[in-house]
Amino acid sequence: MEGLKTMQREALRQYLDGLLKSADFRDYCPNGLQVEGKAGVQRVICGVTASQALLDEAIERQADAILVHHGWFWKGEDGRVTGFRRQRLASLLAHDISLFAYHLPLDAHPTLGNNAQLAKRLGWTIEGNFSEQNIGFVGVPPAPTFAGELAQWVHQALGRAPLLIGDATRTIKRIAWCTGGAQSYFEEALATGADIFVSGEISEQTVHMARETGMLYLAAGHHATERYGVMALAAYLSDACSISCDFVDIDNPV
Ligand SMILES: [Zn+2]
Repeated sequence: MEGLKTMQREALRQYLDGLLKSADFRDYCPNGLQVEGKAGVQRVICGVTASQALLDEAIERQADAILVHHGWFWKGEDGRVTGFRRQRLASLLAHDISLFAYHLPLDAHPTLGNNAQLAKRLGWTIEGNFSEQNIGFVGVPPAPTFAGELAQWVHQALGRAPLLIGDATRTIKRIAWCTGGAQSYFEEALATGADIFVSGEISEQTVHMARETGMLYLAAGHHATERYGVMALAAYLSDACSISCDFVDIDNPV
């Protein structure tokens, strides 16, 4: 492609690690370059999760690297390269494609991160952070709104029906949010004084905690809330480094 530069994989790694401050986070997976591919990078395919479907798309588009929020090698995982893991790794190695993954650093980044980008999409103003490593965000909607209206707006903006736990007629003035599977931060969110906690997933016990504490809960989808960080990063990287970065959305109902 014309106008595109070839960036060295190592330079790209250093650039991304610095931009996302990956060394500052304790995480459940290694952040940064997870699988080493060819030395030169011109085309990057970006997505939420390094699933086989995303790898196939990257191979089809002759990508040199893949950049995701959910990579591989999670703590507690069985490390054996068998079955679907063998297939995934074989696909990457056969095509000499690098895999870059940024988990918590890409949730937390103050402008490009999932939480900041979700707020931008939903029109919420960020006022602060909460929880360990400041992963959670707290802020306000453009105007006080009924919880039912907020849920409808989230449905419209993200294209997925959320699950609201609590009184839909409650007025929401203050929102705590954390994208993905952050239901375990419920009590930290409660301590911020928020009227509602918005995350992606929900657990059985989340319902009881919402009922008993009075803080509402909105499960807006793990995938649906975590598309925007890597999308923003793809756009930023195209501009900053003059390499091709395309976001590919692999549908996921959760
Ligand atoms: Zn996630």
